[in-house]
Amino acid sequence: MPTVYFVVPCYNEEEVLPETVKRLGEKLNELIKSGLASEKSRMMFIDDGSKDKTWNLISQYAKDNHFVAGVKLSRNRGHQNALLSGLMTAKEYCDCAISLDADLQDDINVIDEFIKKYNEGCEIVYGVRSSREKDTFFKRSTAQGYYKFMKALGVEIVYNHADYRLMGKNALEALSEYSEVNLFLRGIVPLIGYRCDYVYYERNERFAGESKYPLKKMLKFAVDGITSFSVKPLKIISNIGTIICILSIIGFIYALVSFFMGSAVAGWASTMCSIWFLGGLQMLCIGIVGTYVGKIYSEVKRRPRYRIEKTILNNDGE
Ligand code: UDP
Ligand code: MG
Repeated sequence: MPTVYFVVPCYNEEEVLPETVKRLGEKLNELIKSGLASEKSRMMFIDDGSKDKTWNLISQYAKDNHFVAGVKLSRNRGHQNALLSGLMTAKEYCDCAISLDADLQDDINVIDEFIKKYNEGCEIVYGVRSSREKDTFFKRSTAQGYYKFMKALGVEIVYNHADYRLMGKNALEALSEYSEVNLFLRGIVPLIGYRCDYVYYERNERFAGESKYPLKKMLKFAVDGITSFSVKPLKIISNIGTIICILSIIGFIYALVSFFMGSAVAGWASTMCSIWFLGGLQMLCIGIVGTYVGKIYSEVKRRPRYRIEKTILNNDGE
């Protein structure tokens, strides 16, 4: 029976916490009774530097209910960092950790399925939204466009999966070796490998409080996702530079022809040619420099290049 930790990042969530603790507590009890989770399982709340009473609530609940655990960050570090801090803390005590949002928008009834898949040997189980009917038109179209764009840029990302997932101890260990600062967990987790599976669910609306992801944060998150996982934008710049260089040669020939036919104003041909050619050349050069910057960038992050899952040495001493 695995020890399961729910990892829940909370930022200014005093309005939803009482209900969340109640619902998650019931779920945990159910899991323990049905033999899916051990008595040592916990629900761990991470206070991401909230300005309201979130931490007071968490510490109070932890006093009254030994199934509640809490982590407090020194200041607001954003959802992804908060989640990582929780997962890394939980890693020491659990067999598997399930990350979910404090507003319980993600259907907690599929947790049974998560654990069953884990018991069958899956190291990572992704929660995938089966539809986006409850989203606004804007959110739905931008989100789906984003997933497609990421795919086109060559980033491995699970379609319609947010941060609702189960990770086993091995996967968590692997995650701890990714030392990047611009954290985009959705992009990192698929790189870990191991056996994985998907569970489909319907996403509900927030039952209280407001979204802690305003448009500005969402945009930053989206850009982070692209620039942390793809150097294609840099390549696009150098491609545009090359195209402009070629065009400038055509322009050069055109200008030369009009010059000799005498139809051009004096000075026009040489000015036009240099503007186009230099513009193209500069872009091309920026693109090349950018390609190197991109390489340095991914080196500096020191991502592990592989992870050995098992070794059979056939040593005598085994
Ligand atoms: N969150 C956080 N730090 C932040 C912003 C959000 O820990 O700086 C948490 C928040 O408490 C919630 C989760 O991230 O548990 C997802 O936020 P929210 O539900 O507001 O996002 P949405 O569902 O609207 O995308
Ligand atoms: Mg939410």
